[in-house]
Amino acid sequence: MRNRTVVLMLLLLCVASQVLTQTKILAPAEVLGFTPGEDRKLASWSQVVDYFERLDRASDRVNFETLGQTTMNKPFVMATISTPANLARLDELKKIQDQLADPRKLGPLATRDRKAAELIRQGKTIVLITCGIHSTEVGSYLSSMLIAHRLASSTEPEIQKILDNTIILLVPSLNPDGVDIVKNWYDKTLGTPFEGTDPPELYHKYTGHDNNRDWYAFTQVETQLTVDKIHNVWHPQIVHDIHQQGAFGSRLFLPPYMPPVEPNIPKAIVQAYTELGSWMATEMRAKGFQGITTNSTYDAWTPARAYSHYHAGARMLSETASARIASPITLKFDELRSREGYDPQKESPKFGPLWRGGEWHLSDITKYMTTAAFLLLDHAAANREQWLRRFYAIGKEAVRPRRPGELAGFLIEPAGNSEPLLNILRRGGVEIERTKYGTSLVRMDQPYAAFAKTLLEVQRYPNLRDAEGHPIAPYDVTAHTLPLLMGVAVHPVKASGRPITGAIPEVIGFVNKGTPTKAELPAIYHSSVPSQDEGWTKWIMDSKDLPYGVLTDKELRAGITIFKPSPGVTGKYYVILVPDQSARTLLEGYRSGAMPPEYTGGLGPEGVRHLREFVETGGTLVFLNRASNFAIEQFKLPLRNVVGGLPRTDFYVPGSILRIELDTSNPIAAGMPKETIAWAEDSPVFEVTNDPNATVPASNVHVVASYPTDKDPLLSGWLLGGDLIKGKAALVEVTMGKGRVILFGFRPQYRAQSLATYPLFFNALSSK
Ligand SMILES: [Zn+2]
Repeated sequence: MRNRTVVLMLLLLCVASQVLTQTKILAPAEVLGFTPGEDRKLASWSQVVDYFERLDRASDRVNFETLGQTTMNKPFVMATISTPANLARLDELKKIQDQLADPRKLGPLATRDRKAAELIRQGKTIVLITCGIHSTEVGSYLSSMLIAHRLASSTEPEIQKILDNTIILLVPSLNPDGVDIVKNWYDKTLGTPFEGTDPPELYHKYTGHDNNRDWYAFTQVETQLTVDKIHNVWHPQIVHDIHQQGAFGSRLFLPPYMPPVEPNIPKAIVQAYTELGSWMATEMRAKGFQGITTNSTYDAWTPARAYSHYHAGARMLSETASARIASPITLKFDELRSREGYDPQKESPKFGPLWRGGEWHLSDITKYMTTAAFLLLDHAAANREQWLRRFYAIGKEAVRPRRPGELAGFLIEPAGNSEPLLNILRRGGVEIERTKYGTSLVRMDQPYAAFAKTLLEVQRYPNLRDAEGHPIAPYDVTAHTLPLLMGVAVHPVKASGRPITGAIPEVIGFVNKGTPTKAELPAIYHSSVPSQDEGWTKWIMDSKDLPYGVLTDKELRAGITIFKPSPGVTGKYYVILVPDQSARTLLEGYRSGAMPPEYTGGLGPEGVRHLREFVETGGTLVFLNRASNFAIEQFKLPLRNVVGGLPRTDFYVPGSILRIELDTSNPIAAGMPKETIAWAEDSPVFEVTNDPNATVPASNVHVVASYPTDKDPLLSGWLLGGDLIKGKAALVEVTMGKGRVILFGFRPQYRAQSLATYPLFFNALSSK
C-alpha cells in the first residue's frame, strides 16, 4: 500500500513537472544566450528554428511549421500565431478568406453582400509579417523572436485583443540561407578592421538583393514557397515586410509610398496603406520616436516588390536605419543626408521630428521594428471588420462584369514563350481559358485580373521631375511587360457585350521563331564584389542544367592556362562571360584596405592582359551591359558609348524595355525576329569610331543590333533623350586577333525574365 502511494505520488510529480516544462515559455535570451538586439550578437538559422520549435511546444498560441527547403537546403519556416480558439478553426477561417477574396463563390449576386457581411462578422484580419529577405538587414529576423515571444507569453489586454482578432503569419526570414552567410562573415571579421562590412558574396546564392525583385517572375524557391504556401492559401489583408535602409537618412520609413503608384493597384489598397502607415507614424511620434518619414524614398511602381498589392493585401514596408550589421555606429546630425522627398535635417510634412544624431545600436533598430509591428497589429485587431470589408470590396470590384468599352481581357497566342508566361499568371492566381482558336484568354472580371493586367500591358512611366527639373529616379525599374520580355504575342480585347473570340490586330510582343543554341561550357567571371547579374546568370545556367566554369579575379590576374583556347591543343574554355558590373569595379574591385586583402584588387592590368591574350589566341569574350564600357576602355576598341557621362536631363533609361533591330544574318542573332527588345538599365549605346589609337580598325566591328532610326526606341517604361540613340548600336561583335569580343549594350538575361533575348545570350556563349 505504502509503496503504491509513493509510486502514485512520483507519477503525479512527474506529470506536474511535465506540465511545468511544457508551459514554460522561454524568452529568446534563455535559448540564444543573448537578447536579440544586443550589440555584436547574431543568431544562426538553426538557433532561430530551435527557438520557434520551443515556442511551438510551450505555447498553445503558436503553430510552427516547415514549408519547404531553401536554395541551400535549409528549412523555410512559418509560425502561425493567434488564440488557441482561433488556431482550432484555421480551415474555416481560410475558407472565409477564400470566399471574400472571390465573391463569385458567395453564390447569386443578389445575396452576396448579405453572405459577405456574415463572413466578415466571423472572420479575422490576416496579417503576414515577413522578415529578413535582405540578410544584412539583421534587425528583423532577430525581432521576429521578440515579437513571437510577446505574442506567445503576454497577459496584457492589448495582446489578447490582437490574438482574438487576427491570425498572424510570421516568417522569421524570407531568406534563411542569408542568415548564416551574414553571421559567418560577421563573426569571422568581428574585432578586425573589417567588422561590420557586408560579406563578399551574394546573401542569396543566385539573386542577392534581387530576391525582393522576384514577386512576379517567381523564379526562386523561396518566392515560390511564400506565394504558394502563404499568400495564395491565406490572402492576407496586411503584409508587413520589415527592412532596413542606409544609416544616414531617416530612422524609419513607413507608407504611404511616394509617387508613382502603379495604376493597377486598387485605390482601396492605396487608401489602406496610407491610413495604416500614417496612423503608425503618428502613434510612434507620440511615443517619442524621432526621425520618421512617410510618403518619400520608396514608390509603389513595380509588382516585382509587391505581390500583395495585386492580391487584395496592403504591403506595409518598413525601413529602419541600419548600423554596421550588429555593430553600433555614431552619427553626427550634419552627417545625415537627404533622400528622395525629405531632408533629415529639416522638419517637413513628410519628415519629423528631427533625430539629432548620436549612437545607433542594433537595439535601436529592434525597438523601432517591434514597436511598429505591434502598432500594426493593434490597428489590424481594432479595425478587423473594416479590413475585411475593404478586402471584400476589392474582390467585388475585381469580379464585376466589364462594361462595353472597358478592357475585357487579353488573348495570348500559343507561339513563342507563352507557356512560361501562362505559368506566371497561374501561379499568381489568374484564371486562364482556352479559346477554340488555340489562344489563351485572360478575362478581367476575376479576382486577380489586376496582376495579369499590369504584367500584360505596356507601362507608361510618368515623367516625374524635382523642383530643379531633374528626373526623379524610380525606386527600382520602370517596366515589366511580360509579352515583350518573354517574346509572346498578346492582344488586349475591349468589352463589347458579346463573347470574346478570336485574335484582334493590336499586339504586344515579338515572337521568337528559333530556340537558343546550347552554350558550350563557358566560364563565368566571378568578381569579389558581389554581382547580382552574375548570380542570375548562374541561376539560368543551373536551371537549364548547362555546365559552366568560374574564373575569379585572382585566377585571371595569374593568367592560369585553363583558358588558353587554341581548339584541340590546350585549354578548357572557349568563351568567358563578364556579367554586368561597372568598369571601375571590374578593374579595381574592392579598394585596398576596404576588405581583407584576398578580396581586393579586381581584374587589374594583369587580368586585362590575360583576357586580351585569350581573345587574340582565339577565345570569345562576352561583356554584358556596363561591363562593355570596361572592354571598350581596356582593349581600346574603336567604339564610343554615346550616352556615357550624359546628365539625366539629357538621357535617362532607368530599367526600361527598348526596341532594337537585328542583323539576323549574324550567327549571334540566329533564330531571332528582325525586331526584338533590349532591357536597358544604365546601359551603354555604341557608335563605331575611327580612332587611330584603337587596337583594331573600325572594319573589325560588326553591328548585330541597333536602335531603329525611324521609330521611338521606347516600348515600355521610361526613356529620356531617345533621339540620341536612334540608329546607334546595341550589340556588337569585334574581331581581335584570332578571337572576338561581344559587347551587349543591354541585359539579355535580365533577372531571368527577358526570355525574348535569351537566344542572343546563348548564341554569344557558343563558340563559332
Ligand atoms: Zn531591404
